[in-house]
Amino acid sequence: MSDPLLKVENLVKHYPLGAAGIFRKDVPVVRAVQDVSFSVEAGETLCIVGESGCGKSTVARLLMRLTEPTDGRVLLEGTDIAGLNKHALRDSRRRMQMVFQDPYSSLNPRLTAGQIITEPVGNFERLSRRKRDALAAELLQKVGMAPEMMHRLPSELSGGQRQRLGIARALSLNPSIIIADEAVSALDVSVQAQILNLLMDLQEQMGIAFVFISHDLSVVEHIGHRVAVMYLGRIVELAPCEALFANPVHPYTEALIAAAPVPNPTQVRLEVPVEGEVPSPVKPPSGCAFHPRCPLAIERCRIDVPALTRTRDGRVVACHVRAPARCSPGQSDVGSFSLTPVA
Ligand code: SF4
Repeated sequence: MSDPLLKVENLVKHYPLGAAGIFRKDVPVVRAVQDVSFSVEAGETLCIVGESGCGKSTVARLLMRLTEPTDGRVLLEGTDIAGLNKHALRDSRRRMQMVFQDPYSSLNPRLTAGQIITEPVGNFERLSRRKRDALAAELLQKVGMAPEMMHRLPSELSGGQRQRLGIARALSLNPSIIIADEAVSALDVSVQAQILNLLMDLQEQMGIAFVFISHDLSVVEHIGHRVAVMYLGRIVELAPCEALFANPVHPYTEALIAAAPVPNPTQVRLEVPVEGEVPSPVKPPSGCAFHPRCPLAIERCRIDVPALTRTRDGRVVACHVRAPARCSPGQSDVGSFSLTPVA
């Protein structure tokens, strides 16, 4: 079997609070990402969801190596990007691009739309003015904008147009995968739908894979093939999108779905009592980090961190109570399993 396009193995990111030194070895750390593993196939959309502070945006930055991991590996087409030198890393970024949440602050306000779009290509090859304009016009059309807009500054564009511009810039290097971090969160709902449909069309036409990071479950349900749910730095459930929304297994996934607003007032909502706040990642609870808020918690939950376990229907879940009931007879916690989709 060939390698997945992107494979993440046991990724860890800890941020020390303050400077360490010979007199301060016990510096408290923020455990932003803890033992996160997943993979993404070509042409697939993997969504990562969770509340603010769960570590999903840190995962995005680690994937692009905008921040260095404390431990773990990120393999792009089989190559660990942590081991690449500056030159090779630049090359890997041709294949993996990012679209940011705030289209305004991620675009250079002094450059025109055309200059913004062709800037990444200009870092790799010299293009004549005529070729640059032709490339800008082609990419603007691809994202549903008129070629004449290449002469406008970001301040002369609407929020939706600016995000389209960010997508066009990401497409300019013909990437295999795009990391979209809350890419539609700052947009109006009607514009959100247009951008999501644009991303899905581009995926169909160009076979691009997406890691789509969002806190909005309705967005995830619309665009995702598979969904990873994160809580306090860990993945607690990873499942095909339809199965996850129809039948959440982890109590936290269930609570997230139950708490999401439903546009139909007559629809019966699932009642899942989850109390309290998300604990601090500086001092996460022992055992299962969700145990202080979990209505199903048992004694073991306070002691043992639940391992991700593959269930009969092919999803992986980290829960001492729910996962064993969903496993095949004789199967228990499994330390190693394929995180690629089950055919
Ligand atoms: Fe709840 Fe225990 Fe499952 Fe954690 S392991 S989600 S505390 S039942």
